[in-house]
Amino acid sequence: MESIRELHRQLVAKERSAIEITQEFLDRIQALEPQVRSFLHITADQAIATAKQVDAQIAAGEPIGMLAGIPIGIKDNLCTQGVPTTCASRILENFVPPYESTVTAKLKAAGAVMVGKTNLDEFAMGSSTENSGFQVTSNPWDLTRVPGGSSGGSAAAVAAEECVVALGSDTGGSIRQPASLCGVVGMKPTYGRVSRFGLVAFASSLDQIGPLARSVEDAAILLSAIAGHDRYDSTSLDVPVPDYAQLLRPNFRPKSRLRIGVIKETFGSGLDSVVEEKVKAAVEQLQELGAEIQIVSCPRFSYGLPAYYVIAPSEASANLARYDAVKYGNREADPENLVAMYKQTRAKGFGAEVKRRIMLGTYALSAGYYDAYYLKAQKVRTLVKQDFQAAFEKVDVLICPTAPTTAFKAGEKTDDPLGMYLLDLMTIPVNLAGLPAISIPCGFDRQGLPVGMQLIGNVLREDLLLQVAHAYEQATPWHLKKPELLMNEAERKAARSQAAATTKS
Ligand code: GLN
Repeated sequence: MESIRELHRQLVAKERSAIEITQEFLDRIQALEPQVRSFLHITADQAIATAKQVDAQIAAGEPIGMLAGIPIGIKDNLCTQGVPTTCASRILENFVPPYESTVTAKLKAAGAVMVGKTNLDEFAMGSSTENSGFQVTSNPWDLTRVPGGSSGGSAAAVAAEECVVALGSDTGGSIRQPASLCGVVGMKPTYGRVSRFGLVAFASSLDQIGPLARSVEDAAILLSAIAGHDRYDSTSLDVPVPDYAQLLRPNFRPKSRLRIGVIKETFGSGLDSVVEEKVKAAVEQLQELGAEIQIVSCPRFSYGLPAYYVIAPSEASANLARYDAVKYGNREADPENLVAMYKQTRAKGFGAEVKRRIMLGTYALSAGYYDAYYLKAQKVRTLVKQDFQAAFEKVDVLICPTAPTTAFKAGEKTDDPLGMYLLDLMTIPVNLAGLPAISIPCGFDRQGLPVGMQLIGNVLREDLLLQVAHAYEQATPWHLKKPELLMNEAERKAARSQAAATTKS
């Protein structure tokens, strides 16, 4: 599968038109969607129309940007004017936004071709995409398994080559964890790096939009396109946006010795042995590439999860109050009886996990419990942040697994919300501290399922994360492997006999 850079070259050299590229992806979507189900809406007509415009620009000799004519998937919690935006919730089943999110407006202006809106856990609450109110997405590496979540549709679409890159949102791990389970690159930028205007709010102090891609360079290109200050989001940072992809060429050579810290606490109980083995091998590889490795401690790291499950539901309970059948939401009852209308609309429109979060959050914020839960959790949040600050006095980048396991079977954890929450143990502290982090593939388990590792950077050090991730990617073969789903018969046979040979040896 071609990179953005290669597709761009082909377009400019007139070897292929934007229409041809778009049609190829729409055809693949049509062929694979019955099995993968990454998309909630496919925007074929709009995609063709955009591709036509790009072709006209090229024909007229006008310069085009890197993303012009590039097929892209958009998570369905990003508002797209005139295109349904459901957050995978029944309550927003018929919602068509009258405005465009800042990130999708930027992509539109860049000529990117949106092929569809991708599936997610309802309102981005979940880690497997099974909480979608509409459909379950499958992991392209094994269709009986989950793609992770909540940006599972975006991760699966990228892994299945239904689009070149995609946008996700990450409140506690929702870009990085599905990226890890689907064998792709996923980045959560620094809080404030990307405007949240038009992202349907889950937990506003934690939410951040970011790229999912098959290579670090593609992720870098997409990040540069969406980052930057926005007067419609007062939390967006007013700092210049580097051309991240440009910083990757030629291959990164740090000026001084790069110090990488392995977070000791993340290698404890509950971690799959294969994940541990692959991440440790990646650490060795980074050492061979010239990095200095240190073991660092973040003693309060594991308190991040309980603090998050007070803070995120609290913010969600406030944010989701707007789905009242007046401002937003499908009206399920006679408005003559206001209370009944609220009750019935919300009872019918929200799924079980969303209701659980609203109840948890309302409780944590209620008078009498606020200090014991919400305020306490905020204090813990500060402690988690301080641990990171102390670690970044000693090292430039931190490393740990992205998720404790590889992709699990669909249905395996649906009756165990706490078990599901634990999947974000290693991603959540990063959101609490507002730091940037990237997940990249670092190997496969015995069943051929991808393993991901997480690199965490200091505030606004996306540049360094991308450089380190790129250097590692270029030195390893993981990004070259593709799911059997995308192979022809001969490739499948060859892959199977190779797998059999490596299991024997
Ligand atoms: N899985 C976590 C949750 O359910 C994180 C979700 C996210 O990052 N949007 O809250």
